[in-house]
Amino acid sequence: MAVSHRLFRLFSPFTPAKNNLSSFLIRSLSSSSPHGPSLDPEIDLKEAAAELEKSSSPSSSPSWTKGRNFHWVFLGCPGVGKGTYASRLSTLLGVPHIATGDLVREELSSSGLLSSQLKELVNHGKLVPDEFIISLLSKRLEAGKEKGESGYILDGFPRTVTQAEILEGVINVDLVINLKLKEEALLAKCLGRRICSECGANYNVACIDIKGGDGDDRMYMPPLLPPPKCESKLITRADDTEEVVKERLRVYNKMTQPVEEFYRKRGKLLEFELPGGIPQSWPKLLRALHLEDDKQSAIA
Ligand code: AMP
Repeated sequence: MAVSHRLFRLFSPFTPAKNNLSSFLIRSLSSSSPHGPSLDPEIDLKEAAAELEKSSSPSSSPSWTKGRNFHWVFLGCPGVGKGTYASRLSTLLGVPHIATGDLVREELSSSGLLSSQLKELVNHGKLVPDEFIISLLSKRLEAGKEKGESGYILDGFPRTVTQAEILEGVINVDLVINLKLKEEALLAKCLGRRICSECGANYNVACIDIKGGDGDDRMYMPPLLPPPKCESKLITRADDTEEVVKERLRVYNKMTQPVEEFYRKRGKLLEFELPGGIPQSWPKLLRALHLEDDKQSAIA
């Protein structure tokens, strides 16, 4: 992949890492091989992770989650709703929701050669190089740590086994939630996605109604329409076209499905089949996570 190779050169060497997390992520990455990651033997990763935990400031979570550092990951195909549920959980648990797709889009909004080369990859449904995404995520985590964040819900990362190995080397991920949705619904949900260009809120104009049968229940997901203040400002993501969504689904199956197995083997994967839209799925998800109590009413 020519563009990818050019990007690889542009990102090497990285900007010097400021402290532990960046430097460990980046040093780990630079020692990974295309045949599977091999972390730098000179790095005592357990020690690094412990050091990182120690240096984290107290969380600003609500009182009932005080002292709990959530390191959660959301997996799932494009369009499944990772962003929706990760963002609701982030509000509930008082930890940031970090979506690498958002970090990439922010980067793409700047001008320059690098940005236009990345755009080429993203707009064709390809993954951006591991080096680039690790660098972006490290910067985001460092900035968060400086603000006192300790814990997060990651959405869209890791997307390759190399990324998962590297993350596992520096942080003990507690839980990986693998969201699943009927395949017929995924494409429709991506094509129906709309974003308010002003406030960034996500909506969906698709009305999904999949008939039941063969033991399957009917699945109904009503559209999530914008309020009048956003109506005239809606935009569609450049990679939400039919052709590109199909490519993103293909890339997911090839590159990210092995990440599910990576976490399954480590006993960290929670499989969650979405039964329908938010009203049916959210309470069920909270039950699956043993989080159902009065607090959910605050954001239901
Ligand atoms: P998303 O918003 O999660 O669908 O991500 C949008 C695009 O950003 C993806 O199609 C990729 O091109 C890029 N991207 C986001 N996260 C990653 C990642 N962890 N690894 C590689 N590329 C990523």
